[in-house]
Amino acid sequence: MKSFEELLAGSVAAHGHLCPGRMVGVRLAMLGLRLLGFEAPPTYLQLKQLIVFIEMDRCAGDAVAFVTNARLGRRSLKFVDYGIMAATFVNLGTDRAFRIISTEEARDLAPAYAPLESQKRGQQLAAYRVMPDSVMFRVQEVKVDLTPFDLPGPTRKKVACVRCGQVVRDGREVVWDGQPYCRPCVGGAYYRDAKDIAWDNMIRSPHLQLEEETPRTGAEQLEERPGMLS
Ligand SMILES: [Zn+2]
Ligand SMILES: [Zn+2]
Repeated sequence: MKSFEELLAGSVAAHGHLCPGRMVGVRLAMLGLRLLGFEAPPTYLQLKQLIVFIEMDRCAGDAVAFVTNARLGRRSLKFVDYGIMAATFVNLGTDRAFRIISTEEARDLAPAYAPLESQKRGQQLAAYRVMPDSVMFRVQEVKVDLTPFDLPGPTRKKVACVRCGQVVRDGREVVWDGQPYCRPCVGGAYYRDAKDIAWDNMIRSPHLQLEEETPRTGAEQLEERPGMLS
């Protein structure tokens, strides 16, 4: 079990800077883990029972991922782009889950908890070390419906989109008229106007060192390709 200061220092080392958002994230994660009966950071066995949903993509989100050790690669970290300073902590062993929301009141009340600080940022950095969890956070007990397709482990299903052929993993296809489609094909993709392109040095790979490309004259190019002259 690590202290708040140790976890905060670790998160700063991993992600670059100290800021109020990072402090909120560290505390939010510590509270979530504590409500599940887990240590911070979780033990190996606890980690295998943990799924974390993060609802924001700022420093607080990085801090939650750092303290919980939840990772996209393990499928223990889920990003839901709500733009809300909140995260949900699921214990797969007990099915209990807690959604923890950072309050706006905490920002408003920061000056009261940091009477020696005059600047807003300094007030927040000082206040978030002493402010009670009950002021900083609202906690909801929630149910999270997870299917085997959401859990760690090998890919459980692959289907090809009937429109573009793209393989879709783990049940993320959309079935329309009995046929599977990838999500981009049924609309609502985050990108648009996709067209396949070619690019310079398409044969490049880590095993193939290419010479530095320097501009060459036409004569040099002809010397290198004598076959062209004969
Ligand atoms: Zn930051
Ligand atoms: Zn498709």
